[in-house]
Amino acid sequence: MKCTRCKIPAVVALPSHHAAFCRDCFLLFARRLVERAIEEHQMFTAEDRILVAISGGKDSLALSWQLKELGYNIAGLHIDLGIPESSPIARQYSERFCATRGIPLHVLDMAAEGLAMCEVKRRARRPICSVCGQTKRYFFNKFAMENGFTVLATGHNLDDETSRLLANIMRWDVEFLSDQGPVMPAQNGFAKKVKPLFRMSEFETANLCFLAGIDYGYAPCPYSSKASFPVYKNLLAELEDRQPGRKIHFYDGFLKRGQGGFTAQGEKDALVQPCQRCGYPTSAGECGVCRLKDLMGVTP
Ligand code: SF4
Ligand SMILES: [Zn+2]
Ligand SMILES: [Zn+2]
Repeated sequence: MKCTRCKIPAVVALPSHHAAFCRDCFLLFARRLVERAIEEHQMFTAEDRILVAISGGKDSLALSWQLKELGYNIAGLHIDLGIPESSPIARQYSERFCATRGIPLHVLDMAAEGLAMCEVKRRARRPICSVCGQTKRYFFNKFAMENGFTVLATGHNLDDETSRLLANIMRWDVEFLSDQGPVMPAQNGFAKKVKPLFRMSEFETANLCFLAGIDYGYAPCPYSSKASFPVYKNLLAELEDRQPGRKIHFYDGFLKRGQGGFTAQGEKDALVQPCQRCGYPTSAGECGVCRLKDLMGVTP
C-alpha cells in the first residue's frame, strides 16, 4: 500500500476517502479536514480566545494539539467529575498533555462543588449520564462566559455527530435536531460552541494521536454502559464498512438539506431565561444544576 499523495509506503488506509497516507501526509490530511471545518462554518479566527473542553481522551487532546499547531489562541478546561475509577486518570492525562504542549489548563473539581458524580449517581432520580452531561455543559459554558472566552470548542468527531443525529432522527426529536450542527452561535447567555473535528472519524482522531505522539488516557467511565449512542455508532460503522463515505454524506446532507426545516420550528428561544438563582440560561425558573445542588444539600 502506497501513500496516495507522495507514493512512499503508507501507514494508514482510509477507505472512506479512497486514500492511504504515510505519516506526514496523514497529518497534513487531518490538518486540512480541521481547517476546512473551521473555515466552511466560520467557527473562529486568530482573534478569538478559544476555550477547549479537555477530557483527557483522544478527541479532546487531538483537537487541542491541532488548534495549537494551527496557531490559535487556546486554553483548556478540564472538569474533574469525581468518579474514583476514571477521573484521576483523565485529569492526569489532561494535565500532563497541557504541561508538555504549553497549553494553559484550568481545572474545575466537581467534588469541591459538592457534585462528585459518584455521589450524584446515588441520589439523582434521572439517568446519571443525563445529569452528568447537563452539569458539564453548565460549567463549561459558565467558565467560558465568566472568563472572556469568545468560543467554546469540543472534540466531538464524525462518529459522535452521526450517531447522535441518527438517534435524534429515530425519535424525531425536533428540539435536538434543530440544535444539532458543528456550530451553535452565542445566544441567550450561551457561549458560541464549535466542533472542529466533526469531519474526522474516531479512527482518524486515534491515528492523529498515534502519529503525532499524543499520549491519551483510556479510562472508561464505569457508568458509560448506560449511554445510548453506542448502538447507533455500531450500526453506522457497519454501514460505513459496506459503503465507505456514508457517514460524512449523511451528516453533510443533514446540514445542507435537513437542518433548516427543524430550525424553522425553533420555538425554543422564546422560552429561555436566566435562572433565578445563578443566572444560567434555562427554560425553567431554576436551572438543573441549582436544583441538583439542592438535592445534594450544597449550600449556596
Ligand atoms: S459516561 Fe455518563 S457518567 Fe460517565 S462521564 Fe460520560 S456522561 Fe458522565
Ligand atoms: Zn505521503
Ligand atoms: Zn441556576
